[in-house]
Amino acid sequence: MLNKQDLGRQVQTFQYVPGKLTYRIVVTTKDEVGALADVVQRVAALGVNFTSECGANYPEFNLALIVLYGEESKKRPTPEAIKKAVLASPTVVEAKVESTTDGLLMEGDLFPLRFPSGRRAVIVGLDNWGGMLRRMRDEFGSGGETIAYEEGVAAGKADAKGLVKTIGLEGIMGNIPRIGELYTAHGWGRMVYTKVKVSPFRGVMRLEGSFECVENRSKTPYSRFMRGHFVGLVSEIFGIDVVCRETKCVAMGDPYCEFVSTLREP
Ligand SMILES: [Zn+2]
Repeated sequence: MLNKQDLGRQVQTFQYVPGKLTYRIVVTTKDEVGALADVVQRVAALGVNFTSECGANYPEFNLALIVLYGEESKKRPTPEAIKKAVLASPTVVEAKVESTTDGLLMEGDLFPLRFPSGRRAVIVGLDNWGGMLRRMRDEFGSGGETIAYEEGVAAGKADAKGLVKTIGLEGIMGNIPRIGELYTAHGWGRMVYTKVKVSPFRGVMRLEGSFECVENRSKTPYSRFMRGHFVGLVSEIFGIDVVCRETKCVAMGDPYCEFVSTLREP
């Protein structure tokens, strides 16, 4: 039985399936209804079992890029046969098919990575980024904790500015519970509860599996970066001076980290 922790998005930076014939199929199509479906059907008809799909539309160029990963089934089509079938689709402009039985196919076509706002994105392992914050704190003590917090504030402000630019202040105000889901979408932690009262401001947010806390054990609430991020985000969006306390923390054994943001006492 699957539980929700087993689900989630696999960011397809590579595929490694040794001993099987595997494929990476890169197709440029016109940005038209049914283009993806047509390509998928043609490849599936040859017996490719899809393992993942990613891509993007570029309406300004009337083009879409589709990257399909797959493996052999009972049938083992050649890359040439797949390319020929795909190119026969009236919407397809260009196609490239890589295949291997060595196991490794790398994603080398989808760069740069961007959020829907157009902002560049980079993928960093949780152990890299969480580890970097932890080492900074272990090495520099309270100085390192302060830097982690201040980096969080700066990142929260930058993210808020990006949000305002993309969906506008009204869009943010009308979607406050949704905004919290950005943390889930970015993989920082699963936002399981958001409650925001605007006047006087009080925000409560609960995050499961926060990247900063989940691999640590602590007797006191551990978060610095995320706490700073909430402060930066809220202060930039609402134009108010807030403080954020972490009242529950997975590093202390709680099921989630809970962040309570309130107006700073004068
Ligand atoms: Zn925590």
